[in-house]
Order: sequence, then structure tokens, then C-alpha cells
Amino acid sequence: MERREFFTALIRPIQKEEESKTLLRPPYFFDEEDFEKCSECENKACVEACEEDIIVIEEGRPSLDFSESGCTFCDECAKACRLDVLHLEAKRLLPKLTIDMLGCLAWQKTICSMCKDVCLDNAIDFAGLFNPEINDKCTGCGFCVGVCPTNAIRMGEER
Ligand code: SF4
Ligand code: SF4
Ligand code: SF4
Repeated sequence: MERREFFTALIRPIQKEEESKTLLRPPYFFDEEDFEKCSECENKACVEACEEDIIVIEEGRPSLDFSESGCTFCDECAKACRLDVLHLEAKRLLPKLTIDMLGCLAWQKTICSMCKDVCLDNAIDFAGLFNPEINDKCTGCGFCVGVCPTNAIRMGEER
């Protein structure tokens, strides 16, 4: 059993159904409807261009997978897109993330700060050793998502 599976099994079942509904787009679009054009895109250049390898194609459209890495906002996907779906001018933050208190070890009195350790934006506040909360400095980059041993970091609201 993987470390993450072990911890998650201790606390609560993995909410696969809930997670599968969450599709995050690369942060360079004006309108969700523009992704309809992706069905005409043969080379899916944004996928190859991503330096962190986090763009995956779901139902013919690009979405972000934070399980192994996060978004550096490097602009390369937008530069590679030739069908005017992704634009540098549309660069935006990603939705702020949240911590599921029931799933988080540090909310359940077990020491863990793996999310804070990878956050370059100092966007996770702890009350002493426990009770982490994501603050407004969060860019939504997603680097904290894949390191959490209990899969407790969730998509927040769109900005
Ligand atoms: S390169 Fe542009 S058109 Fe092609 S899949 Fe990516 S976003 Fe869509
Ligand atoms: S990585 Fe962060 S959110 Fe995940 S269990 Fe540890 S303290 Fe909680
Ligand atoms: S998404 Fe990025 S900025 Fe926000 S808390 Fe996680 S690592 Fe920090």
C-alpha cells in the first residue's frame, strides 16, 4: 500500500467521484467555450510545451493534473497554442485551494507540514504545529496537492 493510501485509509475514504468532476484549465483563457476549438487541434501542442508535464487531455480538452507537480505560470502552453484558445493576455491565477479539515493530519492532531514545505508563496498558515489554512497569497499553483499524504487539499472557488 502506498504511503498516501495508508494515511487516507486511516482517516476517510478517497473521494474519487468528487475529484473526477474537477477540471482545471491552463490559466490563459478568456472563455471556457473557447475550448470547443480544441477538437480541431491535431498536435495538442500545449501538452508538449508544459515544462512540468501537468497538462493532460480530458474529453479532447486540456486540463491540469496536480498529482505529480504544479503550474509555474511559465507561459509556454499559451505560446504554443495556435488556435487562439490560450492567450498570454488572458493570464490569470488558478482557483485558490482549500484544506479538508477531516482529511488533514495536522487538523487531526498529527504533525505534518508537507504542504507548507513546498509552498513557495508562503500561503499556508499554521496555528503553532496544527490547523493549517490556505491564505489569500495562494496562486492555485497546485504544488501542495501531490505531496499531501492524505489527499486533503481540494479545489477552492474560482476567483
Ligand atoms: S494547443 Fe490550444 S487548441 Fe490545442 S489542445 Fe492545447 S489549448 Fe487546445
Ligand atoms: S500535507 Fe498539509 S493538508 Fe496534507 S495532511 Fe499534511 S498538513 Fe494536512
Ligand atoms: S496552491 Fe500553491 S500557492 Fe496555494 S497553498 Fe498550494 S503550494 Fe501554496
